[in-house]
Amino acid sequence: MTATLIRGRTLSFRRVPASLDDADAYSYETDGALLVENGLIVASGTYEAVKTQAPDGVPEIDHRPHLILPGFIDTHLHFPQMQVIGSYAANLLEWLNTYTFPEECRFVETAHAQRIATHFFDEMVRHGTTTAVAYCSVHKTSADAFFAEALARNMRMVAGKVMMDRNAPQGLLDTPQMGYDETRAVIEQWHGKGRNHVAITPRFAITSTPEQMSAAGALVREFPDLHVQTHLSENRDEIDFTCSLYPDAADYTDVYARYGLLGPKTLFGHCIHLSEREMDAMSETGSIAVHCPTSNLFLGSGLFPLKKLVNREKPVRVSVATDIGGGSSYSMLRTMDEAYKIQQLQGERLNPFESFYYMTLGNAEALSLTDKIGTLEPGTDADFIVLNMAATPAMALKAEVVTSLADELFLLQTMGDDRAIAETYVAGMAAKAELTG
Ligand SMILES: [Zn+2]
Repeated sequence: MTATLIRGRTLSFRRVPASLDDADAYSYETDGALLVENGLIVASGTYEAVKTQAPDGVPEIDHRPHLILPGFIDTHLHFPQMQVIGSYAANLLEWLNTYTFPEECRFVETAHAQRIATHFFDEMVRHGTTTAVAYCSVHKTSADAFFAEALARNMRMVAGKVMMDRNAPQGLLDTPQMGYDETRAVIEQWHGKGRNHVAITPRFAITSTPEQMSAAGALVREFPDLHVQTHLSENRDEIDFTCSLYPDAADYTDVYARYGLLGPKTLFGHCIHLSEREMDAMSETGSIAVHCPTSNLFLGSGLFPLKKLVNREKPVRVSVATDIGGGSSYSMLRTMDEAYKIQQLQGERLNPFESFYYMTLGNAEALSLTDKIGTLEPGTDADFIVLNMAATPAMALKAEVVTSLADELFLLQTMGDDRAIAETYVAGMAAKAELTG
């Protein structure tokens, strides 16, 4: 592939911003550029400097005055729940039993899984999400459809076949042996193929017997480099039910600890109601608490204590995610707008630089993938997005009074959605422009 020079204002984080004035936490070029070749960023910086490194006659794409950022990363969502979004339920367990489980049963059919996979990746590209960490359904067919589509689009994706062997309809149950065998088969078939990463995915303790949790622990020991994803401490009834199923465990977190599932590659969705002991256990193992704001508000699950988790003496690693279809938007911008409000309700501040850090580098750190994604650093994947703060008439009106980068980011977060994503580059290719409809 020949080189391409992409010009625009560029923003990329180096670390979490300590405050609104912490300009060392990021690099921002008002006339910046990326030199892209063979799916990678080979140079980044000022346009002037990058231009000197580019071959003569290199094609240029000029996105000024828009803002170029690393592609958004979504660290928790459910690929089979695209038709579950917006289902009217009182709480998590009612929502699962009434809408979600019946819908996921349909993913035993390859044609259905393939159709939804097409829509799923279209929505990711449309919303500027270039890496997502997804739950498939219990059926291997769903993981096959997901990874085949990710491979066809050359996207860096993390996903897993869900393991679940109780407390759900028959059509959604595997067995401890079957969950183990099929997860191994998915790993062998898809992990490392293209940019695919397979995650070990026990849905949550309620839907796995102790025997299945042991099988999940065995997989984690056999494949220590793989990501692990599950749910933890989302809803009070869920916590009580879990503790009744595992009476020997000290608490919900201890259930996972007993099967060796805590660790620096494990993503725990929600973590809203953790005790201090549980937070210590998360911190000591480097486990990640995944904040899913639109889902937490939609299902009435509770207010995620983000600042408490990251600022305590033993800090807990945190990432952010949509949790489609408990979540109500595919947009990471909409997600961080709700995250901001959740902090407001707790008397905490979440400044716009922090929000954009979390959507990019922060989530890449949570996935231990900063050598590949989350920044505009040379040598990383050329997955980046172009943001337009004047994408709608109302945004354009507000943009007239924007005077700083912080203002611009906050406008994008507060009013933006997929319309603010002017382009999504996947491995150096303009992917949003390719979408039909
Ligand atoms: Zn979830």
